[in-house]
Formats: sequence, structure tokens, C-alpha cells
Amino acid sequence: MIRYALHCKACEAEFEAWFASSTAYDGQKAKRLVRCVDCGSSRVEKQIMAPAVKGTRASNEPPVPEKLMQEFAARARQHVAENFDYVGDSFADEARSMYYGEQDDRPIWGETTAEEREALKEEGVPAAPLPPAFTPPVPKPKGPVN
Ligand SMILES: [Zn+2]
Repeated sequence: MIRYALHCKACEAEFEAWFASSTAYDGQKAKRLVRCVDCGSSRVEKQIMAPAVKGTRASNEPPVPEKLMQEFAARARQHVAENFDYVGDSFADEARSMYYGEQDDRPIWGETTAEEREALKEEGVPAAPLPPAFTPPVPKPKGPVN
């Protein structure tokens, strides 16, 4: 059994649910069987879980020095370049087809028009602007494009 913290994109409810396995969750999600306990919407997403920080001291901590931020941004860029598929201007199509379970989820990045961004937002497709500091150089196409 696995417990997920879930977030409803329709009414912003947060709740937890148990699943037999992560595969079971994926299957139920694809069939839109994972529903909000409050409003019944199927626009439910796993919450991105940050490493647990107990008793955060954030308010007392000094601001992060610029150098650390730059190192962090460089690591973020590298992470995106190494782990995310660059899909160019088909980002909206790819993100949508993953959201509706037509293909397996994978991390992608690419470009959208303002209209596409707006449409994704309205459909509740999870996508976020990549801050310029975290954006790696666009990869050169490898060989002929099919
Ligand atoms: Zn809800």
C-alpha cells in the first residue's frame, strides 16, 4: 500500500488516499477514477512532495546568498537538460496527452504560445513556466526529424 497526498485542481482541496501501488494509482488516474473527496472532480493530482523539513526555521534564516542561487540555477539547468525531453513547440500537445493518459508521463520542456498556456491552465494540465535562469540551451536536433 502506498499513501499519496493529493490535490484537487478544481476546488483546491488537499487530501490523502491509499493505493495498492503507484501503478494502481496510475491506472485509476488514467481511467479518471481518482476523484476529489470534496467536489468529486477527477482533476486530482499527486502533490509534489518536497523532502520533509520538520520545524522549519525559514523565517529566522538569512536570505540565500546570490552565489548559492547561481549554483542552484546551474544545477537546475543541468537537471532539465539531462532529464527532461525537449519537445519544442509541441509542448502543449505532449502535456495534454500525458494529462489525459494517452501516453506515459515523462518530464518534458518546450515552448507554448500564450493561447496554449491559457488553454492548458483552463484544462488543469499541470505546466509551469521555466524561469529563464533554469532554462538550458535548446538542444540541437539529432539527425533527421521524422
Ligand atoms: Zn475538489
